Amino acid sequence: MQTQPPVIDAHAHCGIIDRSWPQSFADYARQAAATDIAGVALFSPVQEIYDRYDAHFADTADWQRRRRESNAHLLSFNSDELTVYPYFFIWNDFAVEQLSTAHCGIKWHRHADEPMYAYGDPRCRKALAEIWRRRLPVVLEEEFGNTVRFIRELAQGITVIIPHLGMLNGGFRAIAGAGLWELENVWADTALAGPGEISSYIQSYGHRRLMFGSDFPFGDPFQELENVRRLQLAPAVENAVLGGNFIRLQAGVDHGTDRADGKRGIEGSGQ
Ligand SMILES: [Zn+2]
Repeated sequence: MQTQPPVIDAHAHCGIIDRSWPQSFADYARQAAATDIAGVALFSPVQEIYDRYDAHFADTADWQRRRRESNAHLLSFNSDELTVYPYFFIWNDFAVEQLSTAHCGIKWHRHADEPMYAYGDPRCRKALAEIWRRRLPVVLEEEFGNTVRFIRELAQGITVIIPHLGMLNGGFRAIAGAGLWELENVWADTALAGPGEISSYIQSYGHRRLMFGSDFPFGDPFQELENVRRLQLAPAVENAVLGGNFIRLQAGVDHGTDRADGKRGIEGSGQ
């Protein structure tokens, strides 16, 4: 008999600095307690990483400190109810030296009217090489042109997860038109996606690279989970989307050693 994989939320934000929303780990845990979610991939909130409202934003030591604090916060959770998979939110200082063996992925995020990633900076290529070496998946939210360039050119060999089934990366159809969904290294999450798009994705590209996500605090974990369950997918398909695929993805991450200190890292992928 096949055992059912745990339900894992592949996309949620948790913060420590930006208190304009209820988005602490306790806030998430409270909402998740009303569900059977057993694990969660956590990213920092955007506003703890850069000033998204200033297109001419210039990085400062103070923002670097903020990023460090926010990213480090995600490594500090210890919960019996929820397995936490911390993702490192990278910005354009490409601070991959802050990656540790506990990290389970990378968050790469920008909207069209926001300050840009310095794709031409040699540190960008170096960071991608380090991400590749660690076999970390990248959740990529970027405008359409940069999404295509990132996948086709910059991130070869890296697994890229397009969140919201592409809603904020140019749209589901634009990503389909660019031929990205069928690529083996391109995955997706269901956060805030409509039932039509989830069904049509599964119909066209199968269910092996699609993961349930809530986009907490923008999405309600209970509601987002219901949105997937309401589709009444075949049990094997539903299990894969709700957690099995996430577990498989994480099994590919190399938590081996930190290059900096050479110490053995955390064993396995759940911590
Ligand atoms: Zn998000």
